[in-house]
Amino acid sequence: MKKYLAIDQGTTSSRSIIFNSNLEKQTDSQIEYALTYPSDGWVELNPDDILNSVVETLDNVVDGVDSIEACGITNQRETTIIWSKISGKPIYPGIVWQDRRTSSYCNELKAKGLEEKVRQKTGLLIDPYFSATKIKWILDNVDGAREQAEKGNLAFGTVDSYLIYKLSKEKNHLTDVTNASRTLLYNIKDMQWDDDLLEMFDIPKSILPDVLSCDDKFGTLCVNKKEIPIMGVIGDQQAALVGQDCFKRGDMKSTYGTGCFLMVNTEDRPINIEEGMLTTIAYKINNNVHYALEGSIYSCGNIIQWLRDKMKFFKHASESEHFLNRNGDSNKVIFIPAFNGLGAPFWDSKIRASFYGITQDSSIENMITAAFHSITFQTKEITTILENNDIKINKLFVDGGMVANKTFCQVLANTLQKDIYRPENVESTALGACKVAMIASGESIKASQANAEIFKSDSDLKSVYENEHSAWLSHLKELLEKKD
Ligand code: ADP
Repeated sequence: MKKYLAIDQGTTSSRSIIFNSNLEKQTDSQIEYALTYPSDGWVELNPDDILNSVVETLDNVVDGVDSIEACGITNQRETTIIWSKISGKPIYPGIVWQDRRTSSYCNELKAKGLEEKVRQKTGLLIDPYFSATKIKWILDNVDGAREQAEKGNLAFGTVDSYLIYKLSKEKNHLTDVTNASRTLLYNIKDMQWDDDLLEMFDIPKSILPDVLSCDDKFGTLCVNKKEIPIMGVIGDQQAALVGQDCFKRGDMKSTYGTGCFLMVNTEDRPINIEEGMLTTIAYKINNNVHYALEGSIYSCGNIIQWLRDKMKFFKHASESEHFLNRNGDSNKVIFIPAFNGLGAPFWDSKIRASFYGITQDSSIENMITAAFHSITFQTKEITTILENNDIKINKLFVDGGMVANKTFCQVLANTLQKDIYRPENVESTALGACKVAMIASGESIKASQANAEIFKSDSDLKSVYENEHSAWLSHLKELLEKKD
């Protein structure tokens, strides 16, 4: 049976997985790396750490495998790396998608009334989350950067581009449509870089990679003296959509990793919902472009990491499950998960995280339960907006590191009052990258989510969760109003 390689470069770790053509995992290797937080709202990574961690996982899985048909790459999106085309070295650390340093600049652009134009072209909002303002920040703040960029000596890439540049023997400077669609510079209707936006953000075009379909030829990966064609590139959330077999209009998944991203396939229609939802490219495969609606929640699994590493409430993320109350009771403790502001549907850069409602009687259990609720309540905000806009939600497929936690899945089902489907293989992201590479190689792919575990919503707890949710929402609205 043929073998395929998926590289999954996430926000907290890098993974390489070998699948066979039945989409069964053969071997895998995962290495965590650290992000840095140099200032309030800043989040950076060292591009060398990313590269080294990917290379190490590749070495671990490729060894002993005779021949690998093709490789698919999936990656954290929006994270911005700029390197010299001459030395190949990054000129600044990678600015991670969560970073909010450009929020004042974004506010200036919004005050000029440019948001609608940007939304029409890119499907996105003007927000520090996306790459454009991060690129501009590097060009404006790193000595000599703008001059070098004007001379055509610098390259910008999201993590996929950087990996392709560093790991392909051709040293290609490429990206795919899904990653391009998260830069704020790519016109998702014309399917090309937008000159008007480049001028608006003051970014020279020579810095940008060429954009290919997800299932195009991206170069040749050289690892352990083996040469593997890179036949698939797709951003992580879009990869999860493919991994979850969400190929039809209305198919929906929610990924609970570092952040949480709910995505609905809308096929050939780029649907625009004003209330804080993004319109984005789901994929371009076999020459067909599919669009998606996306609700992006910044803080999710990183809340659990914070409870573990900074609050020292437990030693392993999995232990959080023992503290989470199944019946929706947080003893009136509320958590606002805004370490770096809030994403969909609130989009606020200034607000910061807080606990509220703590009394002498409050326990670690209450605080941990409140933290989990802040994730399920944000999901509920998004599903409510979708339903208000006539997008039906019958069931929700979930994946990502957090859904290893069964109690969390049940709490999610109870909060949403929807059945939650957790697939056997929750590594949908890597699976999606593998599937794209298989399609590009002409291999037919089978459905991968046949044996999903179902978490049925408990209607007896409906009002408990509704009350907790509305207390959380009114407290949050108070904070947002006070801050303004
Ligand atoms: P990413 O792809 O963004 O790096 P993953 O999908 O690998 O993220 O998920 C990792 C996240 O999942 C971590 O932030 C971790 O805290 C969280 N996590 C892992 N296991 C559990 C668990 N059993 N309960 C709650 N959270 C968990």
